[in-house]
Amino acid sequence: MRTVIVVGGSAAGLAAVQSLRREGYGERILVIGAEPHPPYDRPPLSKGFIANNLPFEHIRLGEQALLDELGAEWLVPARACELDLERRMLRLEADDRLRFDGLVVATGVSPLAFPGPSPHGVYTLRGLDDAEALRTALASAPRVAVIGTGVLGMEFAATARKIGLDVTVIGNAPHPLARQFPAAIGELLAARHREAGVILRLNAPVAGFEETSGHVSGVRLADGEVIPAELALVAIGSKPNVDWLRSSGLPIGDGILCDARCRAAPGVYAAGDVASWWHSGYGARLRIEHRMNATEQAGTAVKNLLGATEDFRPIPFMWSDQHDVKLQSYGVFPASGEMEIEGDMASGRFVALCHHQGRVVGALGWNAAKTLRQSRMRLAEAMEDIRLDEPTLTFA
Ligand SMILES: Cc1cc2nc3c(=O)[nH]c(=O)nc-3n(C[C@H](O)[C@H](O)[C@H](O)COP(=O)(O)OP(=O)(O)OC[C@H]3O[C@@H](n4cnc5c(N)ncnc54)[C@H](O)[C@@H]3O)c2cc1C
Repeated sequence: MRTVIVVGGSAAGLAAVQSLRREGYGERILVIGAEPHPPYDRPPLSKGFIANNLPFEHIRLGEQALLDELGAEWLVPARACELDLERRMLRLEADDRLRFDGLVVATGVSPLAFPGPSPHGVYTLRGLDDAEALRTALASAPRVAVIGTGVLGMEFAATARKIGLDVTVIGNAPHPLARQFPAAIGELLAARHREAGVILRLNAPVAGFEETSGHVSGVRLADGEVIPAELALVAIGSKPNVDWLRSSGLPIGDGILCDARCRAAPGVYAAGDVASWWHSGYGARLRIEHRMNATEQAGTAVKNLLGATEDFRPIPFMWSDQHDVKLQSYGVFPASGEMEIEGDMASGRFVALCHHQGRVVGALGWNAAKTLRQSRMRLAEAMEDIRLDEPTLTFA
């Protein structure tokens, strides 16, 4: 292979480049990245980057010297807009055409916008530019509304509260993290947020925004009540960045549909948030929007691009920091799973095990990283025996 192109220059894209070199690939690597910045880590954007005013250097992935050492060509900012599989050609928005022998797609996801028009002061949070704009706007927004009770919305609420703002979280669900974890965990987390002064409006569908002179002044609920706010964050989910691939003939569904080895077509692999692949351990298609997965999946995808025949069968892992709570989880938490608590929930340090089809399939640590790691083995054993019905593990 004379040229490998990596589309997406972030966590999975950089990991793909690193893996290519680690595996001994010495030919041309071209990275096409839509963002103008060097690769950086997204998790701090909803946490310390805003709360502690961190500089970019704290979140960048690898110093310039490390990037230089990899010897890849970075075409940034540049956006891939079409893939011709037959000719093995990529077209960029600037109309350049690039030939490849191998392709890794790592284009991630984009946040869902609130349907209908949004006045100024309504934000989403995915990238550095969003976080910088939010950081500035929070300085003159005493009242913040967060729409969405997923991990991202709840993390942002904790951050806004930490810098002293009045925060109301509004969501359809009966408790936070309803798409990620069972009710008992969400309810405990709701209690911790309330204790910290966050107001939660649950089971409360949002109808739209109120505005004054084009700037948001409140969030209007379906029952007509208005929650006053000078800033609103919409954190209601995300969609895989696959539109540019629609005419390519690649199989597209909820992400790029890959086989068990992360292959979407001969010589074409996907990794990270955009990849939906067949997890041969769980016997299910999964798409995972978690940081660790981006790195690990890129590693396996690249090995297979270079000739290996390895299934990608991780035990999913994620973490989230909210107030003084460090949540970490391994495995999966099907909606029908039953929880067993190891330790004392009231103590602020415990592990919750999720039972499904007679096996432990998920383990969540609440300020209990060390104990949690011991549960990991049990999850690996259970993998082969269960069937999943929940295909996307989302962060939003
Ligand atoms: C605010 C925030 C906090 C998070 N916190 C956590 C956390 O605490 N724990 C956790 O496990 N996970 C967390 N995540 C999730 C984690 O950051 C993602 O799983 C990870 O970034 C995925 O990496 P990726 O490379 O697949 O996608 P991305 O990081 O989204 O990168 C995709 C890149 O591709 C570019 N791109 C898109 N389309 C094109 C195109 N057509 N041409 C060229 N380039 C393109 C994008 O601009 C982007 O730079 C968080 C995410 C966010 C947004």
